[in-house]
Amino acid sequence: MDNPLGCNTLYPGGRLMDVRHQFTLAAHKRSLQILKEAGFEACEFSHFDVLVPQECRALREACEEFGLIPWSAHSWVTLPETPEEADKHARELRESVDAASDLGVKVVVVHAASGRLDLNDPEQRRVRSIGLETSLLGVAPHAIAYDIKLGIENCADRANLEFMVEVVRGLDLPNVGFVVDTGHAVLHGMDPAETIRIMGDRLCSTHLQDNFGHVDDHLPPGRGNIDWSSVIAALEDVGYEGVLMVEISDCPPNRAPDAIADTREAFEDLFHFARGRLPE
Ligand SMILES: [Zn+2]
Repeated sequence: MDNPLGCNTLYPGGRLMDVRHQFTLAAHKRSLQILKEAGFEACEFSHFDVLVPQECRALREACEEFGLIPWSAHSWVTLPETPEEADKHARELRESVDAASDLGVKVVVVHAASGRLDLNDPEQRRVRSIGLETSLLGVAPHAIAYDIKLGIENCADRANLEFMVEVVRGLDLPNVGFVVDTGHAVLHGMDPAETIRIMGDRLCSTHLQDNFGHVDDHLPPGRGNIDWSSVIAALEDVGYEGVLMVEISDCPPNRAPDAIADTREAFEDLFHFARGRLPE
């Protein structure tokens, strides 16, 4: 695949303990420089919620200077399960979208809450449907004005994903789609390639990350058990044209983080699977 290769912004100054005070504008600029120097062409902002609008606009300019595509931003506001929570979450998500528009990104990644309501119970399923629909209707038209897509990430099992795909297709909002997180797929008993095919033409971004089937390790592709050739084949099958975005960990549990080495390793691993050869 010749899609652009991207990576999430990693905190460049050692262990990240306090996002708001440590991951400053200067630290973000440094993380972009590290991504560029590793060979990446695009980025995802993992911690943009802590930045003020002026800082987001400065990062958009920094991307331009580095020649990086500001592709996506990860919002930490969830899509709620119930209609009662929908208005509040939609309001907060609209604020995330405003900040994302200052960054100039194309996709805002969101998680959807799940677990309290039982999808096998028709009444609870109906309530959850209304909750999801109400929150998406509260934020998607706002995002479309900025030409931003909302990408719902798979964070649960197949039944949850199929439910969300059904709701999203029923709404017919053109700028709502899905983000495949390959590591989450495995941890919830799914094959990442199958997850991509269920998302189909609604796939709007990726979180390519690996693990050994037990813990959400966020390792670079190839460092765990995932079959990456089948992931790439599925991405080609659904006609995915966006960035191949790695999502690795800021905070590896058993060793000190090293943003430069970790970013470089992620680039080499992703390049290998995406392009079918080693980087020069
Ligand atoms: Zn993810």
